[in-house]
Amino acid sequence: MCGIVGYIGHRQAYPVVIKGLKRLEYRGYDSAGVALLNHGLKVYKKKGKVADLEDSVVGLDLGGQVGIGHTRWATHGEPSDRNAHPHYSASGQLAMIHNGIIENYAQIKEELQHKGYTFKSDTDTEVLLNFIEEIRNNNECSLEEALRIALRRIVGAYCILLVDAADPDTILAARKGSPLVIGIGKGEHFLASDASPIIEYTKEVVYVNDYQIAIVRADELILKNLGNEKQTPFITRLDMELAAIEKGGYEHFMLKEIHEQPQTIFDCLRGRLLPESGMITMGGVENHLESLIHAPRIIIVACGTSWHAGLVAEYLIEELCRIPVEVEYASEFRYRNPIIHPGDVIIAISQSGETADTLVALENAKEKGAFIFGVVNAVGSSIARLSHAGAYTHSGPEIGVASTKAFTGQLAVLTMMALKMARAKGTVSDERYRTLLHELHAVPEKVAAILKDTASIKAIAEKYKDASDFLFLGRGYNFPVALEGALKLKEISYIHAEGYPAAEMKHGPIALVDEKLPVVFVATRDRFYEKIVSNVQEIKARKGRIICIASEGDSTIPSMADDVIFVPDADELVGPMLSVVPLQLLSYYAGLAKGYDVDKPRNLAKSVTVE
Ligand code: GLU
Repeated sequence: MCGIVGYIGHRQAYPVVIKGLKRLEYRGYDSAGVALLNHGLKVYKKKGKVADLEDSVVGLDLGGQVGIGHTRWATHGEPSDRNAHPHYSASGQLAMIHNGIIENYAQIKEELQHKGYTFKSDTDTEVLLNFIEEIRNNNECSLEEALRIALRRIVGAYCILLVDAADPDTILAARKGSPLVIGIGKGEHFLASDASPIIEYTKEVVYVNDYQIAIVRADELILKNLGNEKQTPFITRLDMELAAIEKGGYEHFMLKEIHEQPQTIFDCLRGRLLPESGMITMGGVENHLESLIHAPRIIIVACGTSWHAGLVAEYLIEELCRIPVEVEYASEFRYRNPIIHPGDVIIAISQSGETADTLVALENAKEKGAFIFGVVNAVGSSIARLSHAGAYTHSGPEIGVASTKAFTGQLAVLTMMALKMARAKGTVSDERYRTLLHELHAVPEKVAAILKDTASIKAIAEKYKDASDFLFLGRGYNFPVALEGALKLKEISYIHAEGYPAAEMKHGPIALVDEKLPVVFVATRDRFYEKIVSNVQEIKARKGRIICIASEGDSTIPSMADDVIFVPDADELVGPMLSVVPLQLLSYYAGLAKGYDVDKPRNLAKSVTVE
């Protein structure tokens, strides 16, 4: 959530910062702003998108080789010009941007108010900034020292960039819980929430750790801990190309990312899945096989779409490995004092690897002796670094706010993981194992077949776009797909949608069914096929409008449905990677038909770094 960019070097900062903000806009987009250092400090900020900010600064002085910029996802105070970042300190000498939440801001604000401070915004950020300034004035210390003292006092999550009109050669940065990457150029440094604004300038980056402060100058990068001890920056090389973060001819990132799935699933399987030799090679699993297969239980911790991938994994691991699995919402898990025994395995699933709730849940579980396995897309992210072991999904940067290719990547990783563990544990027969290897191998091609002709899905989306509610139903492996279909529709088209187990719908939601309600059945041919046929009948008898995702060649389900989308036949264990694709497209086209910004749906943000 929220995008942060900073530049210090020999270029003009404003164009670099604005371009970076556009790349990060998927992280938050209710307002944007920049601060530039050029014979004094100038702050420009505006409610709305980065483009609105650009329009508002035409003709103004945008010079300067040091700048910081922010695109906001409001937590404290409505989106407005005055709540937008950067904020000025009371003296006007300092400016700061912030990603995250200062939890004890109210208490600090009160202290400052007693000392006579007034505030121009409703944000927690301005409170922290004035707190830093107050400490500097009181202690007559450097800004860096004041920052350190302030950070030791505050509770919450932050990535901040701070500039001082009196020291135009330095950007101070710090993080705890919100990501920060620093790109290293020749006589210049780039700071950002993720690598996408940096990639076109340099591939050498340093991921700043929690509780570190970075003192960044054009030709110098110093990292320190909060105890003022220097720490050696660990430089890594980005394995990412610029094309991966551009639209590549597609109208939206979401559409591009949906269409990338044959390739991204293939990339995820590549080098790991070897169906001919019957092998799956996954270093993270291999090196810890004993811990994994002898786990008394596995707890999967995730949020949103990743939580749905976790549900599929529950079915896979219980069925193939015979290990009890629980799937937890990270936000609930972290606060309810869960019972964790040493030896328990936690699988954390997160696209960004920065999901705040998941991160803290993991830290807690790690302290209690659990083994942490991360399934993450963003290389080098906080969850990746915190985990004992893990597997990347290799889906490439996902920029559309609604997750698509990361979900299928997660499923591919989790399926391989379950198969590898089951093989080692001896809980899957040779024949079934080999069949599933081949089934998994065939997924990219089958997804490509679904994507070949999307016109009928577009037509269905247009037909039903004015419905006020949708119901999504599925059984077995298709139940989490139904949940995911409902979530996608809500996110992108703002149509209220519920996902439900198809049989469970009789215990309540069936009351909603009338001739206006579209009901989407994920009804591919699997072991529950006969049962779901009955569920379709039950809805039909109540005059619901039936849309079915059905297996190619099926005629029973299509004969009962108003509209059908076919997907290639597949084993039910890999089926979710196919059946979810039409649902992603359905929500994409519904959002499009309603005229919404599908890449930046209202109120949402990518990479939820606040709890
Ligand atoms: N809590 C801050 C605010 O509401 C920062 C939010 C963000 O991460 O964008 O302004």
